[in-house]
Amino acid sequence: MVDYQEILDEIHESLTNVKDKGEVAGYIPELANVPKEKFGIHLQLITGENYSVGDASEKLSIQSISKVLSLAKAFQLVGTNLWKRMDVEPSGNPFNHLSLLEMENGIPRNPLINSGAIVVADVLLSNLENPKDDFLNFVRQLAHDDTISFNETVAESERLTGYNNYAAANLLKSYGNLENDVDDVLDFYFYQCSIMMDCKQLTNAFYVFANKGRCIHDQEHLTASQVKRINAIMLTCGFYDEAGEFAFEVGLPGKSGVGGGIVALLPQCFTIATWSPGLNPQGNSYLGMQALEQFTTKTKLSIF
Ligand code: GLN
Repeated sequence: MVDYQEILDEIHESLTNVKDKGEVAGYIPELANVPKEKFGIHLQLITGENYSVGDASEKLSIQSISKVLSLAKAFQLVGTNLWKRMDVEPSGNPFNHLSLLEMENGIPRNPLINSGAIVVADVLLSNLENPKDDFLNFVRQLAHDDTISFNETVAESERLTGYNNYAAANLLKSYGNLENDVDDVLDFYFYQCSIMMDCKQLTNAFYVFANKGRCIHDQEHLTASQVKRINAIMLTCGFYDEAGEFAFEVGLPGKSGVGGGIVALLPQCFTIATWSPGLNPQGNSYLGMQALEQFTTKTKLSIF
């Protein structure tokens, strides 16, 4: 029998005292205030057992992790029409890179870089009656948890400094790849990024991707085929210009956010979430990546 708790404890102990924890995201002022020492891991097996260590029950700003959840909702709503407006290729570029978008005529490389997620936000705006409430309800249903909420202070903080995302959205609009107003799309996008969840809630929300489209409460939200494709996009695009490195070191589909969270999963086996706010230069949690590398190496559980 694998002792998962012992493995999480070992990983936590080996990394908590590491001096270099990376840099907290400074371009969203509200995120720069989060203490770098925070560090938590939560593991949920598909069979329902849960294991936790450190600050796993403290809320973090999920940021780009929300892009997988918005993609899931858009895919559920419009199906394969989504792929007329964005591609599914890794970008090999930072999450906020703009030059490829211009070279490729306003078609984002994939839904997990900022430009792609902004198009997904536009799809949700066009297809949901009350976009913010309906999306939040979808996330709450996936996680089976009504306490999950937006953080308006974080959303507002990002709006005030979101020049790069305004540039991306304006470029998309100029190529005819946004149906709604730039300000409305970005307002929704900043809100979705501001959702707060702890590591346990993240493993609950992502259970659907490990369980062929059925959430922790066994309700079907996505088809097995949709989940297969979303997992493929997470594996190839979930860590931007470090997607290859994450597949190499960890070997799981997953998604990071500049709040320092990472969620990863092994289909039919487990979901795992880590949180350490310090980031590496690619914008992925520095300790989180190391923790997940240790986890899949120690347990020998990965897709490869
Ligand atoms: N809200 C952030 C942004 O758009 C999300 C980026 C991220 O988490 N990688 O810049």
